[in-house]
Amino acid sequence: MIFGATGDLAKRKLFPSLFHLFRKGRISKKFAVVGVARRDWTHETFQSHVRDSVLTSIGQSEDIEEFISHFYYQPHDVSNSESYIKLKELADQLDTKYELQGNRIFYLAMAPEFFGTITDHLKSEGLKDTNGFHRLVIEKPFGHNLPSAEKLNTQIREAFIEDDIYRIDHYLGKDMVQNIEVIRFANALFEPLWNNRYISNIQVTSSETLGVEERGRYYEKSGALRDMVQNHMLQMVALLAMEPPIRLTTDEVRSEKVKVFRALRPIEGEEIEDYFVRGQYDKGSITEGDLTGYRDEVNVDPESNTETYVAGKLMIDNFRWAGVPFYIRTGKRMSSKATKIVVQFKDIPMNLYYNPEEPLAPNLLVIHIQPEEGITLHLNAKHSGDKLKTKTVKLSYSNTGIHGMNTPEAYEKLLHDCMLGDATNFTHWDEVKLSWSFVDKISEYWERTEEKSFPNYASGSMGPKAADDLLEKDNFFWWPIHNLEVDKC
Ligand code: NAD
Repeated sequence: MIFGATGDLAKRKLFPSLFHLFRKGRISKKFAVVGVARRDWTHETFQSHVRDSVLTSIGQSEDIEEFISHFYYQPHDVSNSESYIKLKELADQLDTKYELQGNRIFYLAMAPEFFGTITDHLKSEGLKDTNGFHRLVIEKPFGHNLPSAEKLNTQIREAFIEDDIYRIDHYLGKDMVQNIEVIRFANALFEPLWNNRYISNIQVTSSETLGVEERGRYYEKSGALRDMVQNHMLQMVALLAMEPPIRLTTDEVRSEKVKVFRALRPIEGEEIEDYFVRGQYDKGSITEGDLTGYRDEVNVDPESNTETYVAGKLMIDNFRWAGVPFYIRTGKRMSSKATKIVVQFKDIPMNLYYNPEEPLAPNLLVIHIQPEEGITLHLNAKHSGDKLKTKTVKLSYSNTGIHGMNTPEAYEKLLHDCMLGDATNFTHWDEVKLSWSFVDKISEYWERTEEKSFPNYASGSMGPKAADDLLEKDNFFWWPIHNLEVDKC
C-alpha cells in the first residue's frame, strides 16, 4: 500500500522501480499495489497514472498492461477511521485474489507529520491483523532534530517493531555506495592501508547544480545540514570508517556503523566555527544563464539565515582513525553535479623523484557515486622518455559503461530488499538518534548566530572561500571535482 500514491515520489521513483522489478521477474505474479491518497480517483484513473509515469520513465513496454492490472486505488483521509476500514476491506479482498498470505508493506510516501496518525490507524483498524509480515517504509526527513525524531519514533513504535521499520536513505540504495564495502572488504590491497597510518584525509563531496526550485518553504526550515548531512553524508562516512563486520548481516553492519557515530568527536558552541562552514548561494551564472540568489527564490525570506551549503571536518576518535580528518561538503547551485569520495593516502616516506616543477602527487582512491559510477586509483608512473620524471596515471573502472541502463535505481534495490525482509540498507533508529544528536549541536548554534557573510558564494561556484580555508588550516585542499573524472578511454 502506497500512501501518497498521487505524489511526486511515487510517480518518479516508486512506480518505475516496481515496474523494473516486475519485468525482471523479481516480483511474482501474485502481487497487488494499492494507491492511497486524497484524490477521488477510480482504479482505472490510477492505473492510467501509473502507466504514464512508467512509460515517461522507460519508454514503450509490452508488459505495461499486465503490470498496471495489479494496481488499485483507495481515496483516503489520513485521520478518518472510516478510510482505513474501507482500505482493509480492499486489502483483504486482494489478499484472497492474489494469495498474498497476509503479507503487507505500507509505504508512507507522504509528509512525516502524517506518519504517526497513519501507523496508529493501521494498528487500530486491524490492517496488521493478518498472518503474514507487516513492514513499514518511511521517507526522509525522519524528524527535524532529535526531540522531534524521538517523538515520531515513539509514535510509530506503538504500531511497528523496530525490525519492521524500513527508514529510507536512498543513498544506501546506490550501487557505488554499496560498493564502498566491497572495495574495502574484498581487496587485500586496501584494507591493510585503511587507517591513520596510511590515509591522510578523506573527502566526501555531494554537489548539486540546482537551487531550491519550488521547495523553498520546506528548505527554509531544513537547510543543507538537516537535508543532506544528518542522513546521506553521515551514512557515507559511516560506511567508509566502520570496522569490518563479522558477517554481512543487517545487525552486524548496523552495529559497526553505530560505533562510528559513537566515535564522532562531539563539537558544540563556538568550537563549531573550527569544524563547520555554512554557505548560502548568491546570484551567479551557469551555462544555462543567469541565476537568482537564494534570498530571491520563491517562499524564501529575503533575509534568510538558512544554509544551502555545508562543509565540515569530522574527527572519528577511535584507534583506526585518530588524527584523520573526514571532510564533507554538500551544497546547491554549485559548479557541477557530483557525488564523489576521495581517499587521500599519505606521502611516501622519502621522495626519490624530487621535481620542484611538479611535486609527487599523493595516491588517491576516488569512488564516483553519481552521476558517474566507478572507481579511479591515482598512481605515479614514469613519464615516458623523460629520465626520472613522474606523472600521475589513473586506473579507472566505470560502472556506467558496463551495466548502462540496467544499473538498478536506488529505489528499485531498496524496494526489493524490503520485500525480502533485508533491512541492511535502511537506517536503524540508533543511527538516526546519534546522527541527530551530532547535527543538532551545529544547527542550534547556527540558529542562534546569524551568518553575517550570507550570501557568501556565487551560484555556479564550488562554495564559500571559508570552506577552502577549513582544509588549508590542515595543509590540505579540496581535490577539484573536474580533475577527478573517470577517464573515458
Ligand atoms: P507530494 O506532495 O508530491 O505528495 C504527497 C502525497 O500525499 C500526495 O499523494 C497527496 O495526495 C498525499 N496526501 C497529502 N495529504 C494527505 C491527506 N491528508 N490524506 C491523504 N493523502 C494525503 O510529496 P512527495 O514529493 O511525493 O514526497 C512524499 C514524501 O517523500 C515526503 O516525506 C518527502 O519528504 C519524501 N521524499 C520525496 C522525494 C521526492 O523525490 N519527491 C525524495 C525524498 C524524500
